[in-house]
Amino acid sequence: AKQQGKAGFVRYAEGMGEPVLAHMQLGSELRRALDNNEFRVVYQPIVRLGTGRLIGVEALVRWHHPARGVVSPAEFIPAAERTGLIVPLGRLVLRETCRQAAMWLADFGPDALREAGLNVSARQLHDPDFVADVADALAESGLPNERLVLEVTESAVLRGQQISRALFELDRMGIRLALDDFGTGESSLSLLRAFPAAIVKLDKSFVDGIEIDDGNPAAADARQAVARAVIQLARALSLDTVAEGIESPEQVAVLRELGYALGQGYHLAEPMSADGISRLLARQAIT
Ligand code: C2E
Ligand code: CA
Ligand code: CA
Ligand code: CA
Repeated sequence: AKQQGKAGFVRYAEGMGEPVLAHMQLGSELRRALDNNEFRVVYQPIVRLGTGRLIGVEALVRWHHPARGVVSPAEFIPAAERTGLIVPLGRLVLRETCRQAAMWLADFGPDALREAGLNVSARQLHDPDFVADVADALAESGLPNERLVLEVTESAVLRGQQISRALFELDRMGIRLALDDFGTGESSLSLLRAFPAAIVKLDKSFVDGIEIDDGNPAAADARQAVARAVIQLARALSLDTVAEGIESPEQVAVLRELGYALGQGYHLAEPMSADGISRLLARQAIT
């Protein structure tokens, strides 16, 4: 019943014949998996497009299921959010990422890596202990606050008072907030004025096809319009930008021409273990 998904992941419920049952069991499976230590964090490099140099990493969680293999977060994050298990799971990712980033800085020096980011769900931002959890993870690891990036989506930001209070508090602590999947929401532009963002991450959907040259400049312009608008806005507001989901050198070229300095994507580097990042940092240290 196992099926290999797109990125080599095993799809969770598909082909199991009893999707509803599988769905119901997912909650208790996740609880068991947390107790059983089955979650691992991988890190995808964020690189300078001009030089290929590693600037930062994004932490991404993986579930190493004993029978099903590596399960993609797309398969279990929604259930973790529904059940509230995203709170302990997110805390695990937070602590592990801070610990690991502090180790990289200790091993390779303060210039080796500017920042480490991780994804935060609306549910976590609603948790009254979230800001304290972040402060604790930073204090315990010794990672300087300004080295941590918390990635939130527009829809999360738009969801309520408690969330915006948490975001302003995190910003005051010097933690950098990134608007993830930028451009996909309904009020991206007005949101930026109200939200203490430091970074916008241009969504993959605006990178897909950006390089297509069919000899029709009008069509090419239309495909590049959002990427261009986002970088202009980011410049006006002094925000950093990261272009996501870069899969080809042609996309790198177009994005650089538009003014994007930083990028992330399979063409640049896939998510990898902490050891993989250490090897990249070691190689970078001697070049
Ligand atoms: P995201 O935050 O937008 O993360 C980027 C996703 O795009 C990752 O998928 C990454 O592996 C994938 N990706 C990177 N470069 C490319 C590319 O060139 N092409 C394509 N097709 N994909 C690329 P992943 O790791 O499967 O994560 C999916 C989503 O799950 C994330 O999207 C994020 O929303 C969520 N997620 C992952 N880890 C966590 C976590 O620790 N906490 C929370 N709350 N959500 C998480
Ligand atoms: Ca993200
Ligand atoms: Ca994203
Ligand atoms: Ca996404």
